[in-house]
Amino acid sequence: MTDALPDTVCIREVGPRDGFQNEPEVIPTDAKVRLIDRLARTGLRRLEVTSFVRPDVIPQLADATEVLRRIDVPPGIAVTVLIPNERGFELALPLREHFSEINGFLSASETHNRHNVNRTVAESLTGLERVIGRAREEGLRAEGVISTAFGCPYEGEVPAERVLAIARRLVEAGAQEIAFGDTTGMANPRQVSAFFAQAREALGPAVELTAHFHNTRGQGLANVLAALQAGCASYESSFGELGGCPVPPGATGNIATEDLVSMLEEMGIATGVDLDALLAAAAAVREVLGRPLGSHTLTAGPVNWHRSA
Ligand code: ZN
Repeated sequence: MTDALPDTVCIREVGPRDGFQNEPEVIPTDAKVRLIDRLARTGLRRLEVTSFVRPDVIPQLADATEVLRRIDVPPGIAVTVLIPNERGFELALPLREHFSEINGFLSASETHNRHNVNRTVAESLTGLERVIGRAREEGLRAEGVISTAFGCPYEGEVPAERVLAIARRLVEAGAQEIAFGDTTGMANPRQVSAFFAQAREALGPAVELTAHFHNTRGQGLANVLAALQAGCASYESSFGELGGCPVPPGATGNIATEDLVSMLEEMGIATGVDLDALLAAAAAVREVLGRPLGSHTLTAGPVNWHRSA
């Protein structure tokens, strides 16, 4: 643990993928495009907008091509697509001019990977190594995302060594960034702190390390603080607190981007995000979904002492 908190943090908004994918309803493409265009004007620098997965398995993202073609994202903002395998990459490639990053994902635990993509970890890894290699040849930035990095709902403990062995393979294949996902909200701050210290050691200073926390058990922001203290300066979160496995029913999703931005800015850590604009985007998605969302800052409003002083 370095205890020196980063001065600035980079946030990748994953709501349009992680969030929309996990809604029971399919959100109309028009609404998705409007919301993504809005998020792209909040100061967020990275947006994960969709995924090239099988439309019969995840109909919520069957409009990936149309979304990519129609969004209007200002230059300088990274548009990311999530890719499970080589087939997904082949589907994404013709739209190459509409995105700049790929996130190749797999789970660190066999059972979760089997449930999620119906492959062994070894099979996923071999496929993703090829995808990442191809992506880099195409001039794309490549991130590897490792789900269940802090615990698996089926298997329980996932050893850090296993997660980091996967991470190393993805880095060797060309990934410039590795995200570690607490997919079902099992991580605790002490574990996170130890993990990121170990990950930095194992992967070296050149690889960007990213934390992807879910707030399933209300520990998302505590885990962010632990990761910050371990030097992690890159996070993935979801506007409105959308996303995450809706199992068990009512379980909350990713940490809310508004809550993350509010906490970081109050701590004096720059995010570059305009919180009011972000809250307006979260209010807009709440309107589209027609239900209350988990985001605390959306409910309570921003801390206002700066204004009334
Ligand atoms: Zn997630």
